[in-house]
Amino acid sequence: MKPAVFSYARPKSWSDAVKLVASGARAGAGTQSLGPLLNLRLAQPDMIADLRHLPDYAGVVVSGGVLRIGAGTTHAAIEDGAVPGRTGEIMAGVARRIAYRPVRNRGTIGGSLAHADPAADWVAVLPALGGTAIALGLRGERRVPLAGFVTGIFETALASDELLRAVEVPTLPAGVRWGHWKFCRKVGEFSKVTACVLSVPGTAPRAVLAALDRPPLVIEDASALLDDTEAEAARIVSAFPELGEWRRAVAQTALRKAVAAVKQP
Ligand SMILES: Cc1cc2nc3c(=O)[nH]c(=O)nc-3n(C[C@H](O)[C@H](O)[C@H](O)COP(=O)(O)OP(=O)(O)OC[C@H]3O[C@@H](n4cnc5c(N)ncnc54)[C@H](O)[C@@H]3O)c2cc1C
Repeated sequence: MKPAVFSYARPKSWSDAVKLVASGARAGAGTQSLGPLLNLRLAQPDMIADLRHLPDYAGVVVSGGVLRIGAGTTHAAIEDGAVPGRTGEIMAGVARRIAYRPVRNRGTIGGSLAHADPAADWVAVLPALGGTAIALGLRGERRVPLAGFVTGIFETALASDELLRAVEVPTLPAGVRWGHWKFCRKVGEFSKVTACVLSVPGTAPRAVLAALDRPPLVIEDASALLDDTEAEAARIVSAFPELGEWRRAVAQTALRKAVAAVKQP
């Protein structure tokens, strides 16, 4: 199938882009998800506002212990080291396992988060890293914690007149431990279960269990999971009786593997 007819706008300023979106235009980023939605006519917007020519849309700015990553930064750029330091190492490792390089060349971190596919990689990983989403609407900028940004399946905290402008994540110290494990039937496929654990010296470890057909489960203090992994992983997955037995078993394995990676000497 081919998309229904739509008009195309290429805003050059964020205020123009926000006005277009507020008047009903659909934002377009890398179109790796929007394209199929249009082709299948699951989305039939009258207008697409192509965000790719906005100032500061892509790129990373480091300031005061915070990395501000433009929404239009591609997975490929992150894979290739656009994000510096230990945070960048972690993010590059995640980016390189998203789909295939042609998808990563166009797909953006902001598009992925705004799309909010429960199985998407940044939907799982960004809440684990901690930080903030920067939303921009007619009333100006708004900051939303990444832990609560995805509110449902393909649903986010963005209002209908808002765009995701950037995400801010902390510059993590060198001694940080990171565990990330996802289960895909084939390389490049969307995950069926993802678990992440971040352990920063001097603070409680944070864990995320995601790709379970629901918003990510964010565990702000995952100390119990690190102390008694078997029992705690079993307790966590028992909260999802709606998942099949095999999926709960994989989720338990994912948590165990992510913790093992964090504890690896
Ligand atoms: C074959 C294939 C395999 C894939 N595998 C994976 C995978 O394994 N893991 C994974 O995480 N992802 C995967 N993806 C998704 C891909 O990585 C993209 O990140 C994702 O499609 C969305 O990013 P995009 O920039 O293309 O956004 P688009 O497709 O352009 O937009 C997606 C949605 O977000 C909205 N949007 C985009 N940008 C903004 C913004 N700044 N503010 C507000 N709304 C916005 C759009 O209106 C649209 O509704 C796969 C995609 C394909 C085609």
